[in-house]
Amino acid sequence: MALERTLSIIKPDAVAKNVIGEIYARFEKAGLKVVAAKQKQLSRAEAEGFYAVHKERPFFKALVDFMISGPVMIQVLQGENAVLKHRDLMGATNPKEAAPGTIRADFADSIDANAVHGSDAAETAAVEIAYFFASTEVHSR
Ligand code: ADP
Ligand code: MG
Repeated sequence: MALERTLSIIKPDAVAKNVIGEIYARFEKAGLKVVAAKQKQLSRAEAEGFYAVHKERPFFKALVDFMISGPVMIQVLQGENAVLKHRDLMGATNPKEAAPGTIRADFADSIDANAVHGSDAAETAAVEIAYFFASTEVHSR
């Protein structure tokens, strides 16, 4: 198994619900370590750049509006198979389809406001981590 890093974002809906700690506890119980973290109000340009892969999708404007509606909590998680492990903890994109006990099943209200983001592959994780963190801000503990 590979020691990996993945980018996780607790979205504005979950930050507003005051469940950052509950979500961090799930990461830690699953063996994922928080090796970088910052809370941030994204600018429109920052959110558009982060989700550039979706810019032709019909939901792009709504997604960006939502992501800048309040502060987000951004972290790098490190562990064995971190990318897939984190996706499993998150659950399906649409919380109505998310398995019981996943973060989205427990904390998300809709496909628009779905509580968390997670990288979908090791390659995209590297790009997404570099989008928000300088290499000196990510620790190997
Ligand atoms: P994921 O976040 O699970 O990786 P995607 O990368 O497909 O999902 O989409 C990015 C984000 O865009 C989703 O988390 C969700 O907030 C939003 N989104 C995706 N599909 C839709 C949709 N059909 N309607 C509205 N929002 C969507
Ligand atoms: Mg995605």
